[in-house]
Amino acid sequence: MILPGKFTEEMDAFFSRHKDIPSEGFYESFDTPGRKGIRLSTLKTDPDTRDEIVSALTGSVERVPWCSCGYYAPTDISNSNPYYHAGVYYPQEPSAMLPAEVIAARPGEVILDMCAAPGGKACRIGEDMRGKGLLVANEINYDRSKALLRNIERSGITGVVILNETPQNIASRLPGFFDKILIDAPCSGEGMFRRDPGAVRSYEEYGPSKIAPVQQEILDAADICLKEGGEIVYSTCTFCEDENEAGIRAFMDKHPGYEVIPHPEIEGVTSSAPSSLLQGSMRIWPHLNPGDGHFCVHLKKQGTRISTDLGQFIPRGLKASGREGIESAREFLRDILTDTALARFKDRPFAVHGQSIFLIDFDEKLFRGLKTVKTGLYVGDFRKTGYKTVFTPSNSLALTLQRADIRPDSYLSLPPDSDGINRYLKGETIMIGEDASGLKSKGYIVVGTDDYPLGLAKAGGSMLKNLYPKAWRIV
Ligand code: SAM
Repeated sequence: MILPGKFTEEMDAFFSRHKDIPSEGFYESFDTPGRKGIRLSTLKTDPDTRDEIVSALTGSVERVPWCSCGYYAPTDISNSNPYYHAGVYYPQEPSAMLPAEVIAARPGEVILDMCAAPGGKACRIGEDMRGKGLLVANEINYDRSKALLRNIERSGITGVVILNETPQNIASRLPGFFDKILIDAPCSGEGMFRRDPGAVRSYEEYGPSKIAPVQQEILDAADICLKEGGEIVYSTCTFCEDENEAGIRAFMDKHPGYEVIPHPEIEGVTSSAPSSLLQGSMRIWPHLNPGDGHFCVHLKKQGTRISTDLGQFIPRGLKASGREGIESAREFLRDILTDTALARFKDRPFAVHGQSIFLIDFDEKLFRGLKTVKTGLYVGDFRKTGYKTVFTPSNSLALTLQRADIRPDSYLSLPPDSDGINRYLKGETIMIGEDASGLKSKGYIVVGTDDYPLGLAKAGGSMLKNLYPKAWRIV
């Protein structure tokens, strides 16, 4: 492919400055197609069954060495399988799986993904947190924040707030708040050239000299948001040193007290060469590693980390209609959930906003003054008709459930290659056959493929009313 002259000049100079980084085959790598990958959900799959699931999906089992739940995909399966719609897997370029593995999110942490859309890394972080703690996924671009919302809903992760904000506004509202921050920075995108012709055009417009100062502003804001003793994982998909090692070095000079957490032993990842400006940082080189170009570094801020007080959601001034709305939501949950699953919802704080009900496990005031796209778990909507309050559950709630959470008479499992699942995902009516014996004859049910919930339907006689949302349907 024809590479921008400015880029080849810059890379020639890079390789002559760093003779310890092999350059042979670098330019040729742009003429080989990048490998495709899929990442399995750590929330919806177990380590011991992942190989089997991937084998059924792709016909091969080849692990991405630097991601415990990542696999190479021999063909592009993107969204062609119902398992995708159930959030079982996410198509992701293999190198892009590294930063969320490095941040190693744990339940109970408070984590910010500063540049989150479309959300592959945010979903992995949320899966690892298992609904405990708080993940704030931010995207500055409103349209992209919608794609982030859809991906987060599909993943079924909970304990998430989605913001559509500038890093500076987050810093002014939430200083010293986060245990960990991921900055998967906007960059000149050199690592994407071979995959996306648009990346070359965008490079000509937003090359390194324009984007490097933006990266520094994002890092400065992250420093304000981060606690003492907190961690930053910074990554880009570019080769440019000014956006990577030199950029982080400049940040560390400006903010003394950060050190690099070295990860020298990640299989398939090239550790910083002796001549690198930043020891302990990581690169994926397309001519040396089986992935697109990527840079990643893990930083720690000095000090002792103290846990964050997320406060409590306190319902205030709830009208009688709101209380009835909450009761109708609880009634729905009692109708479809097992006693064990129901216990998880007991005593959780339901919030009423207008006619909608949410589950919010933190003080909502934390995010006052910031543009929120999603706060907590959207449970559904209610409306009053005559003496009754009618509750309409949200399909995104169904995606947060595991099969074991759902009463057997409220779960219809359809095989991934069946006509029934195809009809469900297209929004068509489903006739109930023998496969539905034991299903309740009236009321809401969860439809899933194998063991993975997809959305809702309403039973009534021999037919199921399909409630799969229009915006989610396949065509
Ligand atoms: N982490 C994402 C994922 O895994 O899907 C990919 C993020 S992409 C590399 C970088 C994101 O940064 C883009 O969505 C872009 O809109 C956002 N961005 C651009 N300028 C920004 C800025 N000044 N501050 C914060 N984010 C910005």
